[in-house]
This record gives sequence, C-alpha cells and structure tokens, in this order.
Amino acid sequence: MDDCIFCKIANGEIPSDFVYQDDEVAVFKDVNPQAPVHLLVIPKKHVKSAAEVSDPAVFSALVGRAVEVARKLGLDKDGYRMVINTGEQGGQTVPHLHLHLLAGRNLGWPPG
Ligand code: 5GP
Ligand code: ZN
Repeated sequence: MDDCIFCKIANGEIPSDFVYQDDEVAVFKDVNPQAPVHLLVIPKKHVKSAAEVSDPAVFSALVGRAVEVARKLGLDKDGYRMVINTGEQGGQTVPHLHLHLLAGRNLGWPPG
C-alpha cells in the first residue's frame, strides 16, 4: 500500500521509534501516547483491519509479540492492556491493522 502511513513506518520510509522488529511484526512508540507506555504492534504486511484478516496466524504473531515485548519491558508486573480498534465505531483511525499496548497507569474501564 503506497500511501499507508504504517506501511511506510514498517519499511523505514518514515523514521520511527522502534522497540522491536522481525520479519513479520514491528513494534514502535505511538506518536500521541495515551499512557506512559503506548506502543503499536503491527504486521509488516498490509491488512486494513482485524475484520479483514483471514489467517489467524496474523493475530498469533501480533498478540504473541506484544506479550513478549511487555515481558521484556517488565510491564507484566503491574499489568497492561492490549487493544485493537476495528472500523469506524471501533475507533480505528489508521487503516492498517495495529494492536495498542498500553501500560504505566491505571487504565479506566469501560473505555469511552
Ligand atoms: P487507532 O485510532 O487507529 O486505533 O490508532 C492509531 C494510532 O496511531 C493513534 O494512537 C495515533 O496516535 C497513532 N499514529 C498515527 N499516526 C502515527 C505516526 O505517524 N507515527 C506513530 N508512531 N503513530 C501514529
Ligand atoms: Zn499499510
């Protein structure tokens, strides 16, 4: 996807603050953090949203890496939240699948 901002981040065209990368997944800091730790976990291969995923291995890669990164950063001690906003009413603003990893404060529930 030529005009996708997260594809450009994944391929290095737009510089970003990476925390972790492998062949399938990139993890970088959200530009507008909503918590002391706010990371985005994305598949490098473009897919618009969770609703468009056909291979469940995509979710395995995303959640698996998110949990590994959380463990490496010691976030599991106090806890964290993983969120995948999906579609318009789900609050998705960037049309490239991403998982939010949030931590470092008490996170309210229910969400707004
Ligand atoms: P959504 O609302 O789609 O679930 O989340 C999109 C997230 O991407 C937002 O938290 C927003 O701050 C973040 N974001 C949007 N553009 C950029 C960018 O260019 N770089 C980074 N690092 N984060 C971005
Ligand atoms: Zn993309």
